[in-house]
Amino acid sequence: FEFAAPKNEPVLNYAPGSAEKVALKKQLAAFKAVEMDIPMYINGEEVRTGKTVNIHPPHERKHKLGHFHQGDSSHVQKAIDAALAAREKWADTPWEQRAAIFMRAAEMMATKYRAHMNAATMLGQSKNAYQAEIDSACELIDFLRYNVHYLGQIYQQQPYSPQGIHNRVEYRPLEGFVLAVTPFNFTAIAGNLPTSAAMCGNVVVWKPANTQVYAANVIMKILIEAGLPAGVINLVYTDGPTVGDVCFNHADFAGIHFTGSTGVFQTMWKTIGTNISKYKTYPRIVGETGGKDFVIAHKSADPAVVATALARGAFEFQGQKCSAASRAYVPSNIADEVKANLVKQVSSMKMGTTEDFTNFINAVIDEKSFDKIASYIDNAKKSDATSILVGGTYDKTEGFFIAPTVIETKDPKYVTMCEEIFGPVLTLYVYDAEKFEETLALVDSTSEYALTGSIISTDRYAIELATKRLTNSAGNFYINDKPTGAVVGQQPFGGARASGTNDKAGSAMNLYRWLSARTIKETM
Ligand code: GLU
Repeated sequence: FEFAAPKNEPVLNYAPGSAEKVALKKQLAAFKAVEMDIPMYINGEEVRTGKTVNIHPPHERKHKLGHFHQGDSSHVQKAIDAALAAREKWADTPWEQRAAIFMRAAEMMATKYRAHMNAATMLGQSKNAYQAEIDSACELIDFLRYNVHYLGQIYQQQPYSPQGIHNRVEYRPLEGFVLAVTPFNFTAIAGNLPTSAAMCGNVVVWKPANTQVYAANVIMKILIEAGLPAGVINLVYTDGPTVGDVCFNHADFAGIHFTGSTGVFQTMWKTIGTNISKYKTYPRIVGETGGKDFVIAHKSADPAVVATALARGAFEFQGQKCSAASRAYVPSNIADEVKANLVKQVSSMKMGTTEDFTNFINAVIDEKSFDKIASYIDNAKKSDATSILVGGTYDKTEGFFIAPTVIETKDPKYVTMCEEIFGPVLTLYVYDAEKFEETLALVDSTSEYALTGSIISTDRYAIELATKRLTNSAGNFYINDKPTGAVVGQQPFGGARASGTNDKAGSAMNLYRWLSARTIKETM
């Protein structure tokens, strides 16, 4: 008998008057009507410190959504204590019972709390309804259901037993606790990092980005209502160095599940390396850490296909995706058509608040991000090597709005072709259409990252050459599509080089990292 794979959660369309749209609007209004008081959750209890940090929608700075209670190192210590106290019972709970909790949480997110999840993501992280639906509803629900499915398959994998011997493998969780550090840009990732480790029987300390706490709180409440026992996942809000200082100095630190910047990941890795003799076991280090994702078009490509891949790949989710298209290589024979089509598409993208459902572009996450993105745009305006094809404006009076911006550069190594910007900025370079092979080498050597990338071509030999030459340039490689939008259960997601450890999220490859197996041989 085979395990039947789950189906992806359908994406609802929020048509005018649809039940989902009515429910979402109601929930948005309900969230905006009260200032939420958000506690930490340690050992299943709500913890309030009185030291609060205000939360504002990035698109409406003057509105206060509420505040969260900030913890210090003593709270991180309590979270670790609670996790370790819960560990034995949780690790010994039959996996079917653990799985049932996450399946129940997925079901609640798909039905009763779908509007809560989406409204929290729209307000807290400035996503439009469609982006929120894909992220905080479908992708997180898929992560939970598919991980249960893959884990069930892993537990079934048992070795051969010759006559007179019974061999078996016990897929135990790690000995200690796992730290999950989650980013602002995807509610699905925030939910996946702690739950995938916990599902395998691990106990977790979860530290979300400050800019993601509003939605993290909704996820945590759902997990508790779904029956997650006290201490299994402990949600704390502190700054990164505080959580790192306590966790990385603890003998029971057994692993980190991280999504965020390369710099932070490398710092953590170094600290873990320095402390390595302090730990009971070698910690598992799993991280997804950014990208500088490319689209290369071949001279055979349809210009309209190229322009659409760029417009959607670069500007959906305000470009705040590790996978976002941010450097484009367009052949000279179709460059004028691609540029004209792209400028047309980008200039018609409506920008504004998430609560107006017609807006395509929303605000970027916070002032620090806004200022960083704006400075790249300002520098491009001053450079002789570049011109702004469309966009180039920004305004933070009401919210952190940056117009989708396409920079054209004559220098293929210009800074915006190399560095991750994490915002709605695409840089385009026109190459000599007869120099495809040389340009493939340029694509590979320009960035230290290797997360996603696309080839757009109607020529099978060109596709084959690009696939071969760009083997190590992207962990997720797309043919004739944008380089974003990996679907759980369909395209396992992750990259190597400076983009991470490539332990594909939403796959068995990731779950194996949270298991520490014991092999048992019994002689008959
Ligand atoms: N999985 C998302 C995608 O394929 C990107 C997630 C991220 O930004 O880390 O577009």
